[in-house]
Amino acid sequence: MPLLVVGSVALDCVETPTDKRDDVLGGSAVFFSYAASFFSRVRMIGAVGEDWPQQHTALLNRRGIDTSGIQAIAGEKTFRWRGRYLPNMNDRETIEVHLNVLEKFQPQLNETHRNCRFLFLGNASPKVQLQVLDQAKGAELTVADTMDLWINIQRDDLGELLRRVDGLVLNDSEAKLLAGDENLVRAGHAVRAMGPKFVVIKKGEHGAMFFSEHEMYVMPAYPTALVLDPTGAGDSFAGGMMGHLAALGRFDAQALKEALAYGVVTASFTVEDFSLDRLEGISRHDLDQRLAVYRKMLAF
Ligand code: AMP
Repeated sequence: MPLLVVGSVALDCVETPTDKRDDVLGGSAVFFSYAASFFSRVRMIGAVGEDWPQQHTALLNRRGIDTSGIQAIAGEKTFRWRGRYLPNMNDRETIEVHLNVLEKFQPQLNETHRNCRFLFLGNASPKVQLQVLDQAKGAELTVADTMDLWINIQRDDLGELLRRVDGLVLNDSEAKLLAGDENLVRAGHAVRAMGPKFVVIKKGEHGAMFFSEHEMYVMPAYPTALVLDPTGAGDSFAGGMMGHLAALGRFDAQALKEALAYGVVTASFTVEDFSLDRLEGISRHDLDQRLAVYRKMLAF
């Protein structure tokens, strides 16, 4: 079943304690789409500027991702993000964000986009996420991501979004900020009370927590010794999760739990190199093999 995603399409500058990369392919929609493409067909909505290297679009197309919803906006520059990881490789600081093309971005969905049953509103301004939600009439499962920037500057729009989506995926510090509570369990329940039927809190190397009305559980991260660049881990987690749900065509409690496990495993590959470099070298078989090890690890 095709999956629609809207989010940032970016050129990232990433610094880790031992290495750095400038102007590499990134963005929430990019990591999400690439990860989800191992599971289902993906259609992307986003915007880029005149400086966008066409080879990045070609890379996405080679995975079968439909990029016809990426608007190239004349006279504008692509969204840029610069981040630096602390020595623990889990916490990071944003050094620079240039919204550029995202300041004027007005997403337009065509008929094919509107009919997608699975929708992921990747990290973008809540205003843009709402515009997509308004147009996505065929969406049966809508899940959103957000981040501290939007919690701080567009909280009212974010509140409206939360009342209208089925699920929210966000990281631990963002959940605490949104709920105003340092206890993650209380924060998860408080965010769910803002509207979504389920909330997934990503905890980086500590895995993820799931909250719904009747269930709460924790999934550990897949332990990998090789962490070169965690950028995009959260988005590829969401890509693996939503990709699996779209492939199944359902989103009951059992499907969601298995989807979270696929998300964990997909993200564990992303962190093993910069940008999409590690994901480019793997196949669906590698994901399934790691999932089998993960499943065995959790059985007791
Ligand atoms: P993640 O590591 O999964 O949280 O996602 C990192 C990606 O998010 C990077 O590739 C950035 O380009 C992108 N990003 C960072 N800040 C923002 C923002 N304010 N809005 C949209 N995307 C962002």
